[in-house]
Amino acid sequence: MAMLTRRERIQQELEATEYPLTAKDLCDILDIRSRSIVFEDIQHIAKSVQNEGKQVLMSPARCGECDYVFRSRKRAKSPSKCPKCKSEWILPPSFIIQEID
Ligand SMILES: [Zn+2]
Repeated sequence: MAMLTRRERIQQELEATEYPLTAKDLCDILDIRSRSIVFEDIQHIAKSVQNEGKQVLMSPARCGECDYVFRSRKRAKSPSKCPKCKSEWILPPSFIIQEID
C-alpha cells in the first residue's frame, strides 16, 4: 500500500472520526508539529473533497468566557483574542468531513 501524504492522512482522520477534531487533536494523532500546517492543509482539503461529493464542516471557534462565536472567519485559523470581552480563553474550531446528500 502506498504511503499517504500528510494531507491524505488528515483527510482520512476527518472522514473516520465520529466527533469534530481540532487542529491540536490532529497534531497529536498524526504527530504533526505545527497547528498552522494543519489549518493550511484543511483549507486545501476543503476544496479537494468537493470533487468527491464531500464537505469539510467547521464548528467555529468560541470564547470560553462570554460564548462569543467567531462565525465570520473565512480562514480556518484559530483566533487569539475575543473581540467582545478581550478574553484569551478561546475554544478552537473543530472539523469533520461529511458526505453531501
Ligand atoms: Zn469573550
